Amino acid sequence: LQVPDKPVIPFIEGDGIGHDITMPSQKVIDAAVEKAYGGKRKIIWKEVLAGEKAFRQTGSYLPDATIEAFRKYLIGIKGPLQTPVGEGIRSLNVALRQTLDLFVCLRPVRWFKGVPSPIRYPTLVDMHIFRENTEDIYAGIEYMDGSADAKKLSNFLIQEMGVKEIRFPGSSSFGIKPVSKEGSERLIKAAIQYAIQRELPSVTLVHKGNIMKYTEGAFKIWGYDLAENEFGDYTFTWRQFEKIKSEKGRLDAEKALEDAKKAGKVIVKDVITDAFLQESLLKPYDHSVIATMNLNGDYISDQLAAMVGGIGISPGANINSSSGYAIFEATHGTAPDIAGSGKANPSSLILSAVMMLEHIGWIKAAEHVYDAMEHVFAKRKVTSDLYAQMEGATLLTTSDFSDEVIKNMH
Ligand code: NAD
Repeated sequence: LQVPDKPVIPFIEGDGIGHDITMPSQKVIDAAVEKAYGGKRKIIWKEVLAGEKAFRQTGSYLPDATIEAFRKYLIGIKGPLQTPVGEGIRSLNVALRQTLDLFVCLRPVRWFKGVPSPIRYPTLVDMHIFRENTEDIYAGIEYMDGSADAKKLSNFLIQEMGVKEIRFPGSSSFGIKPVSKEGSERLIKAAIQYAIQRELPSVTLVHKGNIMKYTEGAFKIWGYDLAENEFGDYTFTWRQFEKIKSEKGRLDAEKALEDAKKAGKVIVKDVITDAFLQESLLKPYDHSVIATMNLNGDYISDQLAAMVGGIGISPGANINSSSGYAIFEATHGTAPDIAGSGKANPSSLILSAVMMLEHIGWIKAAEHVYDAMEHVFAKRKVTSDLYAQMEGATLLTTSDFSDEVIKNMH
């Protein structure tokens, strides 16, 4: 991606702790860029409005000017946004993702030495979640029980579609799960390309296709078709393994798999969601890139985040890999219980900004932040969310933590 040496990056401060973490995070990124490139490169931060602040100043929670800024500058960053109550808005985050068609939610999961983890071998965790962001049961097509539309739909399903399984036809709620081939393919394609570019060993398609055959089951089949047809030179799939096994026997299949690994091919496999949740705890080293649908991805993202210290330090990005739009964001919410108290951990937003530096190719600056954070966590200097779980830790406020990261840039 080509960016100028002094790119304009629009940012949304966000509600609640958004105000507490934004300035300290920008300070860390500015210091890392300065350290890496002297005055040659610099980010020009441009505040754009969304959420409560936007409503107070403009009467709109998501002004058009904000969307236009993201369209103009392609890349942006955001703090958490509270969903306005009773405004007919499902979620500002969802609105932003849908307007810019940010179909990939990318969440890298990486452990920093010293951070408390519930698993035995956190050093072996290096996962990258690709969650489909626009389809599935989260598309928002829902009908309330007893409503005229719900009754119409249940009559249609029974009379026109021959459905027999609706137990309480007049009083059922409905949620519709649209899943398209195009929508699934573009997500899986982004995940495979990412694995190839970063030389990662595998892509796991996570799905509940054993139960939902034509949505989640199709996701798996489309994934294997795509890997074999479009990325045949770079991948080897479990489906190919099974085919060789049934035609020539297990030994030949295992040899083909070994040869593919030796050749540096990405192994594309699939796992049922419930099994994946267990495997990711017991054998996290078996999975590298994970490609999954919207609801599965939501659950998986927070479970994997918990393995490396929780949402306070887990970064994320919402991306459209075709148009180039990318918004990097803290993965946690607005934490109203601690807003304004200096307790918030800014790491999630800092590390999201580091993903942004990597995205624009400013790798040296990204490494300065990673290295410094490694030092700070290893010294057990942390904010309140981690302090309670760490023996002998030193408690820092949000801004003291950021200053400590800057001090540890060598
Ligand atoms: P939350 O993430 O705000 O808080 C859950 C818990 O984690 C709280 O105890 C909070 O204090 C703690 N926490 C969260 N981030 C922290 C941080 N950086 N440092 C220390 N502790 C942290 O989730 P919630 O309470 O379910 O949601 C609150 C609001 O945030 C809701 O309005 C929700 O819609 C919104 N939300 C926004 C986003 C987003 O903008 N991407 C994501 C999730 C929730």
